[in-house]
Amino acid sequence: MSQPGIPASGGAPAGLQAQNGASSASGSLYTNGPVQNALMSSQVSVNEGYNSQLPGSYPHLIPAKTLNPVSGQSNYGGSQTVSPLSIYQGPGQTLYRPPVASNPVTPSLHSGPVPRMPLPTSQNPAATPMPSGSFLPGANVQPPLNWQYNYPSTGSQTNHCPRVSSQPAVSGNTNLTSHQYVSSGDPSLQNNFIKSATPQHANKNPTMSRSVGYSYPSLPPGYQNTAPPSTTGMPPSSLNYSSGPQGFTQTPLGANHLTASMSGLSLHPEGLRVINLLQERNMLPATSLQPPVPNLHEDIQKLNCNPELFRCTLTSIPQTQALLNKAKLPLGLLLHPFKDLVQLPVVTSSTIVRCRSCRTYINPFVSFLDQRRWKCNLCYRVNDVPEEFMYNPLTRVYGEPHRRPEVQNATIEFMAPSEYMLRPPQPPVYLFVFDVSHNAVETGYLNSVCQSLLDNLDLLPGNTRTKIGFITFDSTIHFYSLQEGLAQPQMLIVSDIEDVFIPMPENLLVNLNESKELVQDLLKTLPQMFTKTLETQSALGPALQAAFKLMSPTGGRMSVFQTQLPTLGVGALRPREEPNQRSSAKEIHLTPSTDFYKKLALDCSGQQVAVDLFLLSGQYSDLASLGCISRYSAGSVYYYPSYHHQQNPVQVQKLQKELQRYLTRKIGFEAVMRIRCTKGLSIHTFHGNFFVRSTDLLSLPNVNPDAGYAVQMSVEESLTDTQLVSFQSALLYTSSKGERRIRVHTLCLPVVSTLNEVFLGADVQAISGLLANMAVDRSVTASLSDARDALVNAVIDSLSAYRSSVLSNQQPGLMVPFSLRLFPLFVLALLKQKSFQTGTNARLDERIFAMCQVKNQPLVYLMLTTHPSLYRVDNLSDEGALNINDRTIPQPPILQLSVEKLSRDGAFLMDAGSVLMLWVGKNCGQNFLSQVLGVQNYALIPQIMTDLPELDTPESARIIAFISWLREQRPFFPILYVIRDESPMKANFLQNMVEDRTESALSYYEFLLHIQQQVNK
Ligand SMILES: [Zn+2]
Repeated sequence: MSQPGIPASGGAPAGLQAQNGASSASGSLYTNGPVQNALMSSQVSVNEGYNSQLPGSYPHLIPAKTLNPVSGQSNYGGSQTVSPLSIYQGPGQTLYRPPVASNPVTPSLHSGPVPRMPLPTSQNPAATPMPSGSFLPGANVQPPLNWQYNYPSTGSQTNHCPRVSSQPAVSGNTNLTSHQYVSSGDPSLQNNFIKSATPQHANKNPTMSRSVGYSYPSLPPGYQNTAPPSTTGMPPSSLNYSSGPQGFTQTPLGANHLTASMSGLSLHPEGLRVINLLQERNMLPATSLQPPVPNLHEDIQKLNCNPELFRCTLTSIPQTQALLNKAKLPLGLLLHPFKDLVQLPVVTSSTIVRCRSCRTYINPFVSFLDQRRWKCNLCYRVNDVPEEFMYNPLTRVYGEPHRRPEVQNATIEFMAPSEYMLRPPQPPVYLFVFDVSHNAVETGYLNSVCQSLLDNLDLLPGNTRTKIGFITFDSTIHFYSLQEGLAQPQMLIVSDIEDVFIPMPENLLVNLNESKELVQDLLKTLPQMFTKTLETQSALGPALQAAFKLMSPTGGRMSVFQTQLPTLGVGALRPREEPNQRSSAKEIHLTPSTDFYKKLALDCSGQQVAVDLFLLSGQYSDLASLGCISRYSAGSVYYYPSYHHQQNPVQVQKLQKELQRYLTRKIGFEAVMRIRCTKGLSIHTFHGNFFVRSTDLLSLPNVNPDAGYAVQMSVEESLTDTQLVSFQSALLYTSSKGERRIRVHTLCLPVVSTLNEVFLGADVQAISGLLANMAVDRSVTASLSDARDALVNAVIDSLSAYRSSVLSNQQPGLMVPFSLRLFPLFVLALLKQKSFQTGTNARLDERIFAMCQVKNQPLVYLMLTTHPSLYRVDNLSDEGALNINDRTIPQPPILQLSVEKLSRDGAFLMDAGSVLMLWVGKNCGQNFLSQVLGVQNYALIPQIMTDLPELDTPESARIIAFISWLREQRPFFPILYVIRDESPMKANFLQNMVEDRTESALSYYEFLLHIQQQVNK
């Protein structure tokens, strides 16, 4: 079982499972939600709302302190001793950094034993239809986990009738004159109900508009979900999706009248095909895979939410749980709720119309019984239309509530009136916490980070209330007074890490505008201050405690930079990675070794503080433990293995680009998100970085536009009486301008009664994404091999169900519905993904990071990471090219991920989401070498090449246009590696060849045979 390269045959040994199970109960890496220990019970009482009290566990005031004997610095004591920065010098000796791998490359593929799949008998014993490794109900039932919110058996009540203290009832306001519509858009549009999020005239900072997250251009009448092709952050799949409501001839009384005329309208005949995958193996489309379009009347579908924001694994919802169980497919939602949008209608109105019973926001899928009454599409309560809502500001016509923007847009943002606030909106507060130990200084990261901060200081989202502060730490904690009027920043050192306190708290988080020069001084000085330090210890835990105390009164964003395993004080960790066990599917430490980081994260969450962790480390740093600080506080994890300012220039470039995005992207503070669904459906498990505050309210101290979430659902009550169901997410947040806003997305889907219809509507990408999230949880709570088995069984079970219950004649082969034609391929890709792969030398922290990404990435990037896109690029042509803003963007076809598709005389670009790899074959044509790479022969291609020269040739222009276009469609910056045939990076390139056999994993064809064998049993 422990032999590398051979997948385990179903389930960990009993002893191991017990061990893993026990450790997970105390706080596993991916846990969330209510836990049974005392930690949570106190938390719940604190965090119901927006109070800013300190938790009772930090009652200390500033005690007397002693001198720090090590550094000889005056430390903060009974009297406040401060030392100007210029005085501080670290000790003059230099330590040698422990050796680090120069390149985080995993070794190339070797020939090895023929891989075996898990034994069929142990997986699918005939006596028990549910295999042990399965996500399906009844299979291998795990004890309720502390992170998994399971509804008490109160039916759908909890889900449909929650009252949020922060979302009080909106009274039916009948005062017509209280409209406060603001327009900053094109006055000629007569579009006076929509307010641009950042009115140009209000933008005091001329450079702010460069930030993607801030640009909401003025809107045309009616909101389009469609992005112009030139926009960033919108993958191509969105470009031609549903159009906006222009031209929509509103059926007078709304969606209920449309349902009667519903019929199978939108399914292309191709979608009805049954495919034998053993005969038609290449089902990968040449262009990026489009999400299925729900089978709705076009008048409803064109109002529906963009699938990039809100997507369901099944676009046809099974009528009953029994039908869902029969299909053996997971039911869930994938959300990207705060995605940067080019167009977003923003409504300012004193009346936000919501259902009086379930608090659903009025949306395009409600029914108007008459002009004065609307019926909620989630709980079916009939509500009155408030008088104010009778007037349509868009048309200036009274008596057409169904034409209001709230009823015409599935995605909309409301400016929240004061009743949505329990305290004044918090100011934007940014605290940076830097590791300045010897190890940190050796990596040289401070230079990059401080320079990046200097460059982007004016672009930090905020207003005149923006506050900023800095903490550095090694074995002690250093604070910086930036009080306005000081000649230079002052450093205050606290050496007592057992009982951390905050010296002069009022001067440590300062107004950015008032103290900008001092901040700039500090950022210029910091990188030099510790260059001679001897201090190798890292008191991360105490530093985080100090940072938490400092931010508690306001909330905000904490950005922590760490370069090693913390060694001192609370939260100190021990190395526990055993390199010779890296490849094993078992006995790897995926769970945290301490609950310190989780507890602190929950304290942070209660005070509206989110912690983002930047880990720059060449050695094992126990990301499984450290990552909890971000996971539960709704932060993000960034990981730069083997970061070094000289030895690893690519990582330096990557950090700079990602910091640029990180510092300038949109941010929402003190946010909560709730997801509602139509009565009968129930949400039971949440995936992502957050804390489940009350039954279904996700606490998000920060929300950022690059975070994705997923939820699992079940059908609790029969949906036989309804033809449509809806899902609505509502994200309440404070903008960096200090406005309270609510962003609402509503998705509408049809209900079906037959298994065939359920299969026809399956969304294979969403299914794969949800399964990946579930598999991460399973890896942590059970074992990696169990998670892998469950992934495989998900394919086997659903295709078996399809074969036995849908297909009338039992043909030979592996028959799949068209909708699931890529299901086996995507699951095989997941098995080979860094999170779940076995038989490789993947470092534990890299695996943990990959798992963090699965949990926190929007679906589109998760799919690219899992199943990259491969293109041949040495023969790009303008045929079929896109034309965007006078630029011609070639559109080469997407190739299967197999070395069969490569040829030595070509060059191939692999887009794996966060990284682009350009492999150049040995016999690549001279034309490509000289006209694109700018070299005379193959041998002259540099070993490390991460940029293409801009040459004055059509070949160069085409490939550069193509790569730029790929990069523009995502918020982060994928690094490009040019890979020669003998380059060590080639192994990374080949590792993504999902369809090929590796030492430890089947080829796609072998996998299909295995699936077929199991399905046809
Ligand atoms: Zn309702």
